Amino acid sequence: MADTYPEEAASMKCTIVGCPGTYEPRETVVVERVQGQLMVIEHVPVEVCEVCGDVLFRPETIRHLEALRHTAIPPTRTVPLYEYV
Ligand SMILES: [Zn+2]
Repeated sequence: MADTYPEEAASMKCTIVGCPGTYEPRETVVVERVQGQLMVIEHVPVEVCEVCGDVLFRPETIRHLEALRHTAIPPTRTVPLYEYV
């Protein structure tokens, strides 16, 4: 999955003012609320600043997440959902 990134992404400078960090490719979990239902998407590629932890989503990743939000395919797995009580 990391090999879909162009080489220069590894050295992209952090967009937070004053932060000396650079972004590195990571994976995250995205939780969306779609029509009142939670949707959990694992292994989403993101860029994370090694210093401040700022997270960047690439435009194509955002488009892909948007497409998944409207997908009719059944989930790969389901997860236990807990309330904070
Ligand atoms: Zn940073």
